[in-house]
Amino acid sequence: MAAFGSVFMPEMAMAQFDGSAWDAATIVPANSISLHPGAHVLHYASTCFEGLKAFRHEDGSVAIFRMDKNIARMLQSSELLSLPKFDPALLSQMIIDIVRHYAADVPTPPGSMYIRPTHIGTEPAIGKAATPTLTSMLYVLLSPVGDYFAGGSRALRLLLEDNARCAPHMGMIKSGGNYASALQPTMQAKAKYQADQVLFCPNGDVQETGAANFLLIDGNEIITKALDTSFLHGVTRDTILTLARDLGMTVSERELTVEELLERAAKPGTEAALSGTAAVLAPVGTLIYQGKEIKVGTGEPGATTAKLRQALNDIQWGKAEDRHGWLTKI
Ligand SMILES: *Cc1c(COP(=O)(O)O)cnc(C)c1O
Repeated sequence: MAAFGSVFMPEMAMAQFDGSAWDAATIVPANSISLHPGAHVLHYASTCFEGLKAFRHEDGSVAIFRMDKNIARMLQSSELLSLPKFDPALLSQMIIDIVRHYAADVPTPPGSMYIRPTHIGTEPAIGKAATPTLTSMLYVLLSPVGDYFAGGSRALRLLLEDNARCAPHMGMIKSGGNYASALQPTMQAKAKYQADQVLFCPNGDVQETGAANFLLIDGNEIITKALDTSFLHGVTRDTILTLARDLGMTVSERELTVEELLERAAKPGTEAALSGTAAVLAPVGTLIYQGKEIKVGTGEPGATTAKLRQALNDIQWGKAEDRHGWLTKI
């Protein structure tokens, strides 16, 4: 099985902004784009992206999960990076067009078609370090993906780190620059502690990992950091919290300190999980802090985590009623 995100469909949807207007979106080969080496994105990181999925249902139809929420976040990322504005209808049409184009290639569950909209600043202008790009390119790549949990879901090991993942006003932007700043700490955590991910906790404030939100589950309560500009507002986070409320759980969106996390984690019934489009909801079994290993509950994948993940998959896969209107059938 190829690594997640390493296989692409041969064509993608693309639209360009020339400084005054967007051209009509077209479907073009996905193996290359033409870019000036002085393009704004390559020097000043004017880039953001999205990640969402299309699923095949038992009747053969294809549905995209929470497309509108991902498009709204991409508009927000673009605005915060001073990239040109676009009409959300342009991007939704591009996504629908390219998914329709490859509808026959959307894998059956537990696989899916991962959708990667990308927006980059294309103006050739290396003097614009402190000025926005005038031109940009928007494209939508597709990558068929298999089961992220092939071989069974293993509980993850997280290293708690006192530093922030990125600058505090940039956290809610889904942008490559933030990933770049998390790369070295994550690689060091892997090499030194065999950690799967770093849980960034600046000043003892539990935020998120490099690419997923963190949720603590203590009995009937689910605790996660309240939204602010310092971390990414995950669509899966929002979905899981909504499903947890539907199941009668108490949802607490508030500050969670490292101290409280470690205290609660040590109790037998506690669970922790990471939420994100790729991993859905991944169980966390071990926290590593100041050289010590602390098991979360039993240290094994928890029943509530599995239940919430199943509830989410059931909606995505068309097996449970879509009560919140999250699916766009194409
Ligand atoms: C994409 C992302 C997430 C998860 O967001 P989803 O919308 O649930 O996929 C969490 N944290 C970071 C830093 C991300 O880039």
